[in-house]
Amino acid sequence: MKEVRVVIMGGGGVGKSALTVQFVRNVFVSTYDPTIEDTYRKVISIDGQQCLVEILDTAGTEQFMALKELYMKSGQGFLLVFSLTQLSSVNELGPLREQIVRIKGSKVPIVLVGNKSDLRPERQVPREVGTNLSRAWGNVPYYEASARKKINVDEIFADIVRQCRAWELVN
Ligand code: GDP
Ligand code: MG
Repeated sequence: MKEVRVVIMGGGGVGKSALTVQFVRNVFVSTYDPTIEDTYRKVISIDGQQCLVEILDTAGTEQFMALKELYMKSGQGFLLVFSLTQLSSVNELGPLREQIVRIKGSKVPIVLVGNKSDLRPERQVPREVGTNLSRAWGNVPYYEASARKKINVDEIFADIVRQCRAWELVN
């Protein structure tokens, strides 16, 4: 079976673990230890082909830069997540993407995700901020998602897996 290694990154509290657990286990966990960094696996069918997706849910707690570089090297695709309820969480993604591009090259598969779309009254980030960032990054796909309501959760993982497989075909 094909294997794809996905790394999910972004600021603390944006919902990386909630998205990952919703995708893998179909439940919304509202309290998840923010320091836990773990790997999850799920088999999905993409375009009629079974694929084992391995997800590294990062916690931003790695003490050594080298460790971060190591998992960036081993990751094939990256979900970069911010919270639609926190404008500052968008700004954390630029440096992360730069680091990923430095290590993996500019054609690296990336999906940009604005999470917590269910929290409409608390929203701070207009859609254009997401679409502008996606354009600045070379038109990476941008999704607004909700781990809580399971909106666009399967879709973001399917997108990154498709991108990884397409990338493999040309490299
Ligand atoms: P992480 O630090 O990025 O892994 O963030 P978590 O997954 O631990 O989520 C941080 C907090 O945001 C938790 O209290 C979650 O319940 C909450 N949360 C995560 N995703 C959503 C979402 O889609 N909607 C809402 N309303 N809350 C969310
Ligand atoms: Mg977490």
